[in-house]
Amino acid sequence: MKPLTAIKGFLVDLDGTTYISGTALPGAVEFFELLKERNIPFLFLSNNPTKTSQEYVEHLRLLGIPASDDSVITSTDATIQYVLAQKITRVYAIGTPIFESALRGAGIDLTSDHPQAVVVSFDLTLTYDKLRTAALLVHHNPQLPYIATNPDRVCPTAEGPIPDCGAVIAFLNAATNRNPLIIGKPNSGMVTLAAARLNLQPSDMAAVGDRLYTDMKMGHDHGMTTILVLSGETKQADVDAATEKPDFVFRGLDELFTALA
Ligand SMILES: [Mg+2]
Repeated sequence: MKPLTAIKGFLVDLDGTTYISGTALPGAVEFFELLKERNIPFLFLSNNPTKTSQEYVEHLRLLGIPASDDSVITSTDATIQYVLAQKITRVYAIGTPIFESALRGAGIDLTSDHPQAVVVSFDLTLTYDKLRTAALLVHHNPQLPYIATNPDRVCPTAEGPIPDCGAVIAFLNAATNRNPLIIGKPNSGMVTLAAARLNLQPSDMAAVGDRLYTDMKMGHDHGMTTILVLSGETKQADVDAATEKPDFVFRGLDELFTALA
């Protein structure tokens, strides 16, 4: 295990790690200011495809966090990168208008007429008609690439957990018996993009987040240092029960700041 001071770049989760319900968590501002002061680069990784990277950047700055223009990577960005790398230009998409316009902005046509892939995401505008169309395409074309932005089953909100992309995947699995290629954390899509952007090897970077099955698994699977914060979803009891333990466990970014300072 590397000491914290040997980490050359940090990939940090947003919800439950940096903020909750839009409010900065204790120590978040101080932690990122310290990294900036020491010229240690950091990126924010979010599996949530319902906002654009730019919207996240603006929100972080509003909270007083020194986020540069290109400091946020969402599962939308990584999905678009993957789709374009596969030379796919026509997809049937399940997603919000923001997700759809991001695909269109990247030159990807949205159509249910002979698409080259089905792409599903966290869709706050989900309808039965979209599920029906996606299910029929996936069912009738066993070779058709079927891609999902993120595996999260639920998204935390002030009212409680609401169905996220993982719930859509489960719905379509019940109807088609197929599972998609998932791009977001913990899979390689976002790590590849982040490593290229920071010009670092995954082994030089740390994954900081509040979820074992996305943030920490991504870190483990890519040879990164793993830093769990208990400010979001995961409780100490979950860590005790986990087979893969994070390298470091902190109460939150406040405790990580103190350990680094
Ligand atoms: Mg989180």
